Amino acid sequence: MTRIAVLGSTHMDLVAHAARAPGSGETVTGREFRTIPGGKGANQAVAAARAGGEVTMIGAVGDDLYGALLRDGLDHAGVDTDLLHTAEGPSGTAHIVVDDTGANSIVVIPGANGVVTALGPGEIAAVAAADLLLMQLELPLSAVVEGARAARAQGVRTILTPSPARPLPDELLDHIDLLVPNEHEAAELSGQAEPHAAAQILLRQVPEVIVTLGAKGCLYAARGGEPVLFEAPAVKAVDTTGAGDTFVGTLAVALGEGRPVAESVAWASAAAALCVQKPGASTSMPYRSEIEAV
Ligand code: ADP
Repeated sequence: MTRIAVLGSTHMDLVAHAARAPGSGETVTGREFRTIPGGKGANQAVAAARAGGEVTMIGAVGDDLYGALLRDGLDHAGVDTDLLHTAEGPSGTAHIVVDDTGANSIVVIPGANGVVTALGPGEIAAVAAADLLLMQLELPLSAVVEGARAARAQGVRTILTPSPARPLPDELLDHIDLLVPNEHEAAELSGQAEPHAAAQILLRQVPEVIVTLGAKGCLYAARGGEPVLFEAPAVKAVDTTGAGDTFVGTLAVALGEGRPVAESVAWASAAAALCVQKPGASTSMPYRSEIEAV
C-alpha cells in the first residue's frame, strides 16, 4: 500500500447559494446553505485514501464544533488523524457564495491552519515514514518548507500543489519533485499564459511539472523529455470543486504503487472526471473500485 503523508489545510466550507452575491453594504436572500468539509489538504487526503492509499494527515483543526466535524470526516474516510492537532480557537473556514451563473466569491479564514508554523518530531517521523508527501499552500509557508526539506532529506518524493498561487522561495522549490499547478497557477508562477511555455519555465526549478487544464486534461513535462498532453475523459461536469485535489490524491497513490507516469495520469484523470460529475468536493471523490471500473 502506498504510504502518503499530507501536510495541509482543513476548512469547513460554508456555502450559500443565491441568485447573485451581495455588493458592499447589501443583503440578499439566498435559497440554500450547506456546510461541507474541505481544505485542499483534507481533500487530497480523502482522495488518496479512497484511491487506496494509507494516508496520514498533518495539520490542525480548531477546538470548535467544525473541528470535531472535520476530524470525523477524515476518520470516516480512513485517514489517520493522530497528527491532526486540535488548536485553541476556531477551525479554518471558507465562506462561499455561489451565484446562479456558478461563479464563486470566497472569504477564507485560516483559523487553526495558521498555527501550523513548524513541525514537531512526530510530524517529521511521519514524513520520513511515507513514500510521498503532498503539500499545498494553505498552511504557513514555514511549515511547508520544513516538510519539503524533511522529505527530501529522507528520499521521500514531494508533490506540491501551488494553490493559492503566490511567489515561491527557492528553499521550497529546491525540495519539490513534482509541481502540479492548474493553468492559472502555472501562469501566475511562470509569467507565461501558455501552458507549454509555463511548464518550460517551471522546469528550471523542479524536475517534473503537471499543468492541469480542466476539461482539456493536463500537460506533463519533465526535464530532458518531450511534454505530453493527456486528454481528460469527456463527461458532463456538474461541479468541478475538488477536481484538482482528486487528481493529485489519486495520482500520488498510483505513482507510489510504481505505475508509470502515463498510467498514473490516466488513473488520476479518471478519478477527477468521476468527481466533477457529482456536486461537492470531498463528497464526490471516487473509491478505488469506481476508478478501476472506468
Ligand atoms: P483545479 O480544480 O485545481 O482548478 P483543474 O480545473 O485543472 O484543476 O482540474 C484538474 C483535473 O480535473 C483536470 O486535469 C482534469 O483531469 C479534471 N477535470 C476538471 N474539469 C473537468 C471536466 N469538466 N471534465 C473532465 N475532467 C475534468
